[in-house]
Amino acid sequence: MHRRNFLRLCLAASTPLVFALGARSIRGETILSAPGGTASGTRLAPTPACFDDDDVTPPQAEGPYFTRNSPERTSLLEPARAGSKIVLTGLVVDTACQPIPRALVDFWQADDGGEYDNVGYWLRGHQFTDDAGGYSLETIVPGLYPGRTRHLHVKVQAPNGPVLTTQLYFPDEPRNARDGIFRPALLMEVGETAEGKAGTFNFVLDG
Ligand code: FE
Repeated sequence: MHRRNFLRLCLAASTPLVFALGARSIRGETILSAPGGTASGTRLAPTPACFDDDDVTPPQAEGPYFTRNSPERTSLLEPARAGSKIVLTGLVVDTACQPIPRALVDFWQADDGGEYDNVGYWLRGHQFTDDAGGYSLETIVPGLYPGRTRHLHVKVQAPNGPVLTTQLYFPDEPRNARDGIFRPALLMEVGETAEGKAGTFNFVLDG
């Protein structure tokens, strides 16, 4: 069974009322419903949140194509470039499920044709999480290149903390099972929206 990073509530920690009313989580939001199934219509914010799998996000190889000093930006899209859009969102939290504001999140990836820009900064960018520990990246789906399944590279660092270097993966990719680096714990949740793909992944940092 693949271990994924579904959002769920830390029920016992913060919202005892939820026990009385019952709760279910839909796409990161929590819908409260009264006993007997009558929906109250009350929506809670998606935080505080924990994860079904709140283990520390595992590290992965950096690979040969990291470039320092990427631009600070939340969109890597460039109008003249080919690619299928994806918006990736999520949280950076510690092992106690507490969000980490101002965490560095630095992405780099291959282009639609499986090539890295090792001269400029196409498909490279860093950002800092907001007060709720959230990040949002607008980019394209990376292309495939020989020997690897589809993936994003990322470095994540809490303020003054150690750097986590890892990779994120796409579900239902035929090459996942044949890629020796691939780990199910690093699968994003990916769905389709009217504007393209939407992915989620929550990073859990140690220390
Ligand atoms: Fe790569």
